[in-house]
Amino acid sequence: MDKQSLFMQVSNLEERIGELYGELGNLKQKIVDLLEENQRLILENQQLQAQLQGNPEGTSTSGRENLWRIYHEGFHICNVKYGSLRTEGECLFCLAFLQK
Ligand SMILES: [Zn+2]
Repeated sequence: MDKQSLFMQVSNLEERIGELYGELGNLKQKIVDLLEENQRLILENQQLQAQLQGNPEGTSTSGRENLWRIYHEGFHICNVKYGSLRTEGECLFCLAFLQK
């Protein structure tokens, strides 16, 4: 195998890895979008069910318990990024809000 052919093969491989990396990033963003949409729909569904049962404040759990649950399911409850997925771990804004 000549050296130039070997170099070309490695270059092609590098290009394909770059493309795959880009696709992976797109898929990851789609997963985040779907998780956020799912969380919004769960909350909307809870609110609608509570309204149907004549309890506009929510189900049997209090608003604060709901916020803790949403936070522990991995979503922001702070007004900076409310409803979006916490991809960076703990959020100081959320924690400050929960401790009010
Ligand atoms: Zn937050």
